[in-house]
Amino acid sequence: MSSQIKDKEAFQRLNFLYQAAHCVLAQNPENVELARFYCHTERMISQRLVLRQDPSIKRTICKRCSSLLLPGVTSTVRQKKHHGQRRTVVRCLSCGHTKRFLNNPNYKLWCDQPQALLENQPKTDKNPGPQGPPKKKESSKDSSEGKATS
Ligand SMILES: [Zn+2]
Repeated sequence: MSSQIKDKEAFQRLNFLYQAAHCVLAQNPENVELARFYCHTERMISQRLVLRQDPSIKRTICKRCSSLLLPGVTSTVRQKKHHGQRRTVVRCLSCGHTKRFLNNPNYKLWCDQPQALLENQPKTDKNPGPQGPPKKKESSKDSSEGKATS
């Protein structure tokens, strides 16, 4: 009983709304507004309840106008070269907002990396927040010196 997923019903709602948006566009590609409404609601729920969207879902929803980005239907996908780097540019046809993804076959999402799993993380109960890139040198120094002091 205790192993139930937290916010299970909310995740089910998000799942339903996202699939509903796909169904709407599959039946009638003109019905962009309804699909946008579903995606917008989905985003609002995940924001309010602080539920992380999977990158595969996040990448198919426009950040600016919340419309569902289907290649060839509501968005264009182009390969472009910028400063010698090839990138995939997804452009929303409703508002013109673009997403850019570097074409790097070795790129690994954070959630796919072994450190992302809770059991693989070093046990530090003092700072529960996710460890960002080591920008602040002071805080990392303090923690390392704190261990050595007797
Ligand atoms: Zn848009």
